[in-house]
Amino acid sequence: MERAILDLHFPAGKLPVKGWRCPACGEEDLAAEQVADAQQVARRLGLYGIEGPRRRKLQRSGTSTVVTLDPTLLAEALGGAVAGDEVEVGRQGDAIVIRRAA
Ligand SMILES: [Zn+2]
Repeated sequence: MERAILDLHFPAGKLPVKGWRCPACGEEDLAAEQVADAQQVARRLGLYGIEGPRRRKLQRSGTSTVVTLDPTLLAEALGGAVAGDEVEVGRQGDAIVIRRAA
């Protein structure tokens, strides 16, 4: 096996990672911890696409439109953010993204 940069593929993209490739047959190998690290980076970059999509109805609040977020989703994505916490909301392509305020 020789050291090589391999592409790990995810539903919404790919990520280059250090691994090994057999020069004879092309078989590729990665250490488990490299895979775990890459999965963490991929999740942060959104390479899994929309995870666990939930259907919601948009609701009206004054002149604004609001959407409810369940505690499980908040815990998974925003570290358990609660009403009153500040978040950043913006457009990313044709999606709206909500993330913890820096
Ligand atoms: Zn081989």
